[in-house]
Amino acid sequence: MVERDDPRQRIAAQRAQRVAQARVRVRRTVARRDGARCEVDGRWLLNFCGNDYLGLSQQFQVVNALMDTAARDGAGGVASHLVCGHHAAHDALERALADWLQAPRALLFGSGFLANLAVMQALLGEGDACVQDRLNHASLIDAARLAGCRLRRYPHADAEGALRQLRGVPGGAAMLATDGVFSMDGDVAPLRELALVARAQRALLYVDDAHGIGVCGADGRGSVAEARLDGDAVPLQLVTLGKALGGYGAAVVGAADLVEHLAETARPYLYTTALPPPLAAASLAAVQLARREHWRREKLAALVRRFRGSARRHGLELLPSDTAIQPLPCGDDARALAMSRQLEAEGFWIAAIRPPTVPDGRARLRVTLSAVHEEAQVDALVEALARARDRAPAQAGASPVARGA
Ligand SMILES: *Cc1c(COP(=O)(O)O)cnc(C)c1O
Repeated sequence: MVERDDPRQRIAAQRAQRVAQARVRVRRTVARRDGARCEVDGRWLLNFCGNDYLGLSQQFQVVNALMDTAARDGAGGVASHLVCGHHAAHDALERALADWLQAPRALLFGSGFLANLAVMQALLGEGDACVQDRLNHASLIDAARLAGCRLRRYPHADAEGALRQLRGVPGGAAMLATDGVFSMDGDVAPLRELALVARAQRALLYVDDAHGIGVCGADGRGSVAEARLDGDAVPLQLVTLGKALGGYGAAVVGAADLVEHLAETARPYLYTTALPPPLAAASLAAVQLARREHWRREKLAALVRRFRGSARRHGLELLPSDTAIQPLPCGDDARALAMSRQLEAEGFWIAAIRPPTVPDGRARLRVTLSAVHEEAQVDALVEALARARDRAPAQAGASPVARGA
């Protein structure tokens, strides 16, 4: 008899452990959506956990661009970009993104996850190093692992830690990679300090601005622009189309030689079907609106100030963030779940974010605000959060099966 582990036995044991730890993850089905409201399991909930920060995903011109292009060109791109899947809609969006961010080139990808895999695979290999913030997005971590380079992580937002790690991996090429706005905390990376470290260590600084683009900086040009850094300091950055821009997909934006190298060699670019042209057209419309309609950013910023002021008056603990991501720390997983359920009972949808998405003991309610929210809705949310905090036991022994990421 051959001796082997049984993967199904193993996953059953792992699942039992997740149940015991209140870490089971369950999808919820959105039946309908109308701005900030979602119909879930037959009830309308006010959504405070999406990433549609500017309210563009259901905007009229964005949706019309998608429908018009689908009617003309079809639903899909039919092939990869280098075969015959590259359409005029892709060209127009790449030019618009490069123009917006004042960079030489932009290259579209199927998703931000794929784009991060592509950047690291194409630029780093054995003998090279990638130094990353400890709280970077999972796709950046996996990208470095798959690239086969050495991966070193530094304490969150600690530029000196980054310097120490870079000093520890001499020889070979080096990349310093960070989220611009941290996806689960909402704070902004110390980009100016990191740029100095990268320059001193001759490392390429790569900023994943999935949550900064559209929201931060002049004309929504993101956290790199807000830090007043140019293309010499940050030769490449990631823009995602699925968050503030309301669509799906991503682009790597930056220096022409680097971007062209990705287009010719990156496996997650070459061996996958092109982004559907209707989605590219939708994102082009979204970019134009994000650039021009300052009221969306201004309204969002005003709602963030209102939320924080009101939360403070109610004695709610907040993290130091002034972006649309406003997490409330809950400590243990069961307490986060109990609060999430209580909020849902009151008509608010806020997912409990638990390990491994965040470190152990750092479960939270990740509240996100959007330009489609109204002041009265934010006020009502804070009151409901305060009630949920008062009701949830400090160490909740609540039923562990629940919702969220
Ligand atoms: C969401 C996200 C990604 C992945 O982008 P997708 O287009 O959703 O695949 C990458 N990096 C960060 C920081 C993100 O928040």
